[in-house]
Amino acid sequence: MPTLSTLFDTFSDNLALYKKNCTGHFMCPLCLRTFPRDRIRTDLSKAHIIPKRLGGRLWTLACKKCNSKVGTEIESCEAERAKFSWALSGDGNETTRVRVTARNQQGDVVGPVQADLGARRADGDRRLQLYLKPKGSNPKALALLNSLVSGGPPASGTPRT
Ligand SMILES: [Zn+2]
Repeated sequence: MPTLSTLFDTFSDNLALYKKNCTGHFMCPLCLRTFPRDRIRTDLSKAHIIPKRLGGRLWTLACKKCNSKVGTEIESCEAERAKFSWALSGDGNETTRVRVTARNQQGDVVGPVQADLGARRADGDRRLQLYLKPKGSNPKALALLNSLVSGGPPASGTPRT
């Protein structure tokens, strides 16, 4: 894993090739502000070019302000989207937590159901899997959804898990 100093030197040398007045500086690729070497520890941080949660292994530097903003506003959303996509693809063992709103045949909301959604490949088909979670679910909605998923009549009493 490269150090802050190594990354600074690499990118600073590259920047100096194109902008002579920036020799000895690093330019944040996100906000384009420049930072001298003595600001490495206070203003810069290492950043994955592709988020680590998506398998990224290459590093760059970014200013701490941009790195934090990208991490919280973009990477977390992108990682969640990718996790959802992987869960639905059936190409792994990924599941993602979803909240399903169960409605009766009249379209009235019965209540929320928590579930883990995933897919599995079998016989050349992708089969969606819904793992119902009693915790955090409305019991009537859970019974309704459980009966629909299993193909039987709505269960009465304690829903199946
Ligand atoms: Zn920046």
